[in-house]
Amino acid sequence: MALDRSTIWPYREGEPGEFFYSRYDHPAGVEAETVLGELDGGHALLFSSGAAACTTAVLGLLSPGETIALAEGCYYGTSVLFGELERWGVRFVEFDQTGAPPEGVDLIWLEAPSNPFLTFPDMEAARAHPARVLVDATASTPILFRPLEHGAAVVLHSATKYIGGHHDALAGVLTMHEPDVYERIKGLRGRTGPIAAPDTASLVLRGLKTLEVRVRRQSESALDLARRLAGHPEVERVRYPGLGDERAARYMSGGFGGLMSFDVAGDARGVETSTRLIENATSLGGVDSVLETRYRWEGDRVPENLIRLSVGLEDVDAIWADLEQALG
Ligand code: PLP
Repeated sequence: MALDRSTIWPYREGEPGEFFYSRYDHPAGVEAETVLGELDGGHALLFSSGAAACTTAVLGLLSPGETIALAEGCYYGTSVLFGELERWGVRFVEFDQTGAPPEGVDLIWLEAPSNPFLTFPDMEAARAHPARVLVDATASTPILFRPLEHGAAVVLHSATKYIGGHHDALAGVLTMHEPDVYERIKGLRGRTGPIAAPDTASLVLRGLKTLEVRVRRQSESALDLARRLAGHPEVERVRYPGLGDERAARYMSGGFGGLMSFDVAGDARGVETSTRLIENATSLGGVDSVLETRYRWEGDRVPENLIRLSVGLEDVDAIWADLEQALG
């Protein structure tokens, strides 16, 4: 089917139809949202990036003077973004998501599992809190974890990662089940303009066709590599939910995803610049394996020797051989 890049569609007998101006909705976007909504078990909206989805969630769900409880050690950019939004009167406090959220907050923001510390949130404790719960499920994807079934009101994905899956589309998703929340977020997206473009939506649709097979294979390879890394003399610590996180095992079905981090005994910069198959690049979730030290971005928030690895679709023994030679 040809991709419809129109920004306008003619009225019919003087009345706007389903599509009239692409800042509100367009065919490829709606098609991707239908698939994403089914996967997450709610109503999905597509954004121009994960960060745009985060911003719209904050602006749509909160008012000045209200407070977000943010999972500590989650995606660095989310806390930086919340720092920006403080100028508009929305505060945030960080808390350990493996325990109960603090009292008196208005939105609970979890990450399942967190990037790059790979902790899994206590969904029961969050559910017992009166505030709305948002789960950034970028690293688990709807294939492995469906937060709306466990008390979350909103699920967020950076579709730039696993959902797009090829490191060539920047996009974000919010999925909700409360109709009034969906209408508010959709209205805000239409007025502020961060909808994903039709070309991006079509790349998201392409990614969705292979999401399940990619995530299953990446999970299998990642578990294998996490175990091998844990036994390597140059590796001090491996963080991966498949290495005995009982809570993650209870909530994630069919695998633990392709993301992990590990601390090396020696020079982490030396390791990241020595890989040949694995790209030394940022981001995660694509068909190609990538790794990077996170200290360059996050500073003292992470150990200097922490390396984040996103496992791709390459042969697992070839990825291991590359890691082994880089670790020296
Ligand atoms: N959430 C998580 C967990 C992420 O890892 C990222 C990006 O790395 C984002 C949100 C932001 O997404 P994007 O880069 O698509 O704006």
